[in-house]
Amino acid sequence: MLVDLHQDVAYYFLTSLSPPPFDVDAEGRQSDLPKLRRAGADLVFAAVFPFVNAYGGWSPSLQLALEAVKVYYSLSERHGVRLVERRVDLAYPGLKFLLVLEGADVLNSVDDLRLMYRLGVRGVGVTWNLNNRWGHSCYSKGGGGLTEEGYALVEAAQRLGMVVDLAHAGRKTALDVLEAARRPVVISHANVNDVYRHPRNVDGEVIKRLVDNGGVLGLTFIPRTISDSPTVEALVKHAKYVKERYGVEALAVGTDYLGISTTPPGLESVDRIETFFKALREAGFSGEEVEAVAWRNAYRVLREALD
Ligand SMILES: [Zn+2]
Repeated sequence: MLVDLHQDVAYYFLTSLSPPPFDVDAEGRQSDLPKLRRAGADLVFAAVFPFVNAYGGWSPSLQLALEAVKVYYSLSERHGVRLVERRVDLAYPGLKFLLVLEGADVLNSVDDLRLMYRLGVRGVGVTWNLNNRWGHSCYSKGGGGLTEEGYALVEAAQRLGMVVDLAHAGRKTALDVLEAARRPVVISHANVNDVYRHPRNVDGEVIKRLVDNGGVLGLTFIPRTISDSPTVEALVKHAKYVKERYGVEALAVGTDYLGISTTPPGLESVDRIETFFKALREAGFSGEEVEAVAWRNAYRVLREALD
């Protein structure tokens, strides 16, 4: 079984020219329903990516966020993918999506978060790569953290039963959220800075606080966050490091399929995820520990974070 904490399904459909339907096993496509089925995928965090690239930069677009939500409605209607809204939905036996807003930049107030909740969105990333009114991003030069409004956003999200996501957040923002959080959070797709230095990766202090919080780090297949030579073995180094220093319960998977243009060799699509799990076993993870990484830890967070 697999819980994938990050795939860019909607962005793929919104930016591809006549993409094959999602129930077609399209050659070269990183993820679709047949591949998810073969991967044993139970739940995918489906990104609502709210930025357009225009005039040489990224700007927030509420319109694009709404288009992404509509993509998920239509996939749900056409293919029976369940959109997870409450804890009880986790018991649904088929494939499920949990909609996550990848950056709260399109929200102007905490009330806007309520609006997203009513639309079915159940996860919110405080920042993407830009600083916003809620907090500083992982590319922030100033090293600032969560703003006063950001604290209110996190509080509201957790009160509503939305998963707070710290992928792309700045170090101080992540630490501030982890200190204030009253439910477990996710860092849906990032790797480990002490293994390979990259602004998107998280450092030991953040992982330590994440463990205290009961949250998970979704190891990601984004090549530039893994290593200069991003192989499966290099990715496993991140997993092993976290397991040995902080415990296996902090680990999950957040591939970023459909959001990355290249992958580590051998992990070209989600149906090849077993290659990663096999490499974990070869690196000393027990069968039970691999299961924890693959889905059990993520489920622990979801049971606590959703209402
Ligand atoms: Zn991302």
